Amino acid sequence: MNQNMKAQILHLPIYQNKQEILNLIKNPEISVLIIMGETGCGKTTQVPKILYENFPLDNQMICITQPRRIAAISISERVAEEMDSKIGDLVGYSVRFKEKMSKRTKIKFVTDGMLVRECILDKKLSKYKYIILDEIHERSIHTDILMMICKDLIINKKRNDLKLIIMSATLDPKKFMEYFNTEALIKIQGRKFPIKVYNISEEKEENIYNNKNNITIEKKIENDYYDLISKYIDRCLNCILQIILSQNEQDKTGDILVFLPGQEDIEDLQELLKSKKEEINSLLPNGNNIEYKVLPLFGSLPSNLQLKIFRPIKNKKGKNIRKIILSTNIAETSLTIKNIKYIIDSGFFKMRKFYHKLNIDTLKVTKISKNSALQRAGRAGRESAGICYRLYTQEEYNNFLDQNEPEILRINLRNICLQLFSIGYNNFNEINFIDKPPLDNFNNAFEDLISLGALDKESKNITSLGRKMAILPMDPIYSLILINSLDNKYRQVFDDIVAIISVLQSDNIFYNPNNLREKIEKIRERFLDPISDHLSLRNIFMEYKRTVNREKFCKENFLNDKALAKSMEIYKQIKEYLEKIFYDEFNKKNSETQIEEKIEEIDNYLNEMKNKEKNEDKNELIINCLLSGYFNNIAKYSNDNFFETVKGNQLCKIHPTSVLIKKPKLGKQYGYVIFNEMIITSKKYLKCCTLITQQQADKFISKNKKFI
Ligand code: ADP
Ligand code: MG
Repeated sequence: MNQNMKAQILHLPIYQNKQEILNLIKNPEISVLIIMGETGCGKTTQVPKILYENFPLDNQMICITQPRRIAAISISERVAEEMDSKIGDLVGYSVRFKEKMSKRTKIKFVTDGMLVRECILDKKLSKYKYIILDEIHERSIHTDILMMICKDLIINKKRNDLKLIIMSATLDPKKFMEYFNTEALIKIQGRKFPIKVYNISEEKEENIYNNKNNITIEKKIENDYYDLISKYIDRCLNCILQIILSQNEQDKTGDILVFLPGQEDIEDLQELLKSKKEEINSLLPNGNNIEYKVLPLFGSLPSNLQLKIFRPIKNKKGKNIRKIILSTNIAETSLTIKNIKYIIDSGFFKMRKFYHKLNIDTLKVTKISKNSALQRAGRAGRESAGICYRLYTQEEYNNFLDQNEPEILRINLRNICLQLFSIGYNNFNEINFIDKPPLDNFNNAFEDLISLGALDKESKNITSLGRKMAILPMDPIYSLILINSLDNKYRQVFDDIVAIISVLQSDNIFYNPNNLREKIEKIRERFLDPISDHLSLRNIFMEYKRTVNREKFCKENFLNDKALAKSMEIYKQIKEYLEKIFYDEFNKKNSETQIEEKIEEIDNYLNEMKNKEKNEDKNELIINCLLSGYFNNIAKYSNDNFFETVKGNQLCKIHPTSVLIKKPKLGKQYGYVIFNEMIITSKKYLKCCTLITQQQADKFISKNKKFI
């Protein structure tokens, strides 16, 4: 690190409070310290350094949590650089499926989920002398759980030497001070660079975002959901154009970060910006060309592509070109992306909410909170002054909630319950969460876990199967299906099951431009199984895996190569996990699946067709193995192509993306369907479905009845 950078860092506002931090840490009476300070004041990068440089660690470490992987990885890299060290040496990180650590690592960045997972093996988190929980205002479920665990360790004197530091830019400290029974609060004043914030105003909207250049936006397919989206995509596009077409000198440099709710919106806008490039350039005088590169950023993007946003993009002449980053709220907190000057905030995000009584998990486009708006703006103004355009009025802003509902109150607790049980927190009446979910929600999760065989019905203790399930980092439904696929009965379909679950963990692998729909249907026909989306996904993934030129394969078949690459990543990682956890069982099976893979390579597609009968047996095995975990995700044919869920009694349609849509009569004929998830947009839909017969369903429902 050069001297200039060093001097810059020492000017960060947090250094005015350095002595205060040191005094409070030194004070043996104080175990919990709260640090508040504006975005960019230096909390995340400097607090761990200040601790490291001023206190001996003996053989312990400093651990800093982040709610998101991308933050944990990118910030640890920055801190390593600031400390003139290589990542994985003094400073390291550990996130799901990825780690850069060594024996010398002293400062460790982790996702909050990873640290909860570490508790399963080491309840007291004894490796760490300092635990820093960052961005606690986000109230992610794992951060809430870590607050509960750390409080238990400190208050109940299970750890006498642990110091807990909780940090955020935006929080009401009172609630946290009461929860931790601490007075130790440090408020850091000021930020280094200003951010100018503009809201749209009803009457001035025409002027500010007026589409002066007559660039047209194609109308999306008819759907009320799309009406809402096209409104904000439209506004985002106009705002981007305003910036990049501006003739003001000060607008000619600086990258743009746009916040949109989801992957689809991002891909839509990316497509629009790409298709309009020529049109945009034709508007410029003297054949001037604007160079820009659009980079998407969302959770299911493979991590190497996510990290691309941090690197400069050069043109052929080696000059930096302007980046337009289109992101979900994964870039909302923590990150410093160099050279970001403009923030465009659509005002929306996708919120997951689980309705316990109905057993429905929903993902809904929702207005953000004031807190989120502040964090989004705070991604600018980190290395120089910034500008934030909020695509909503001041009045709309005033009506935003102060903060989002804490995750623990709104998501399915199945996963978390299993983890808490395996750490040793069995009595949910006694667990002291900062916001306690209603006991009913826990009971719902218990019921699920008993049905899955993870908890014993009588003793309510975790079973040995439950312990195995807790180790796999995914929803227990998938863990169970995977563990079952190691069974002799399902041995020959083990690979297919891992494939299906990898694709389900990734995201939408289909690329469906509206105008080519018919053509695409024809092209993809050979992959599709008439009664099963799961089997169709398997077919596609297996062919992708066999293919050498994967990019070409995806292009030809209108598949999303990023999503498939991500599935491939997960596929390998799941196999590695299973190998580690179930070494003996796995090895026995793996050697056979390897042989099977070889045979598969030799067999061509025609041969497979000849073996159709054998394939059908195999397919039935796959479906049965899936059924062993999808115990709640089953619906019975009702009428008019509606299905009624067995748990929750919800009437749903099959999602338009399903293969089942093409042959609606089959639904009635088979009688039942299993589904991966239910989503609510304008209607209730079942997504990713497989038809099953009454006979299959009965066997499965009665098998689970004894638990429910
Ligand atoms: P806070 O956590 O208080 O929001 P950080 O510790 O993340 O702040 O960052 C403090 C400042 O350090 C930023 O405003 C920026 O000036 C600088 N900084 C942090 N990370 C980077 C990075 N990757 N590249 C350049 N500057 C950075
Ligand atoms: Mg921070």
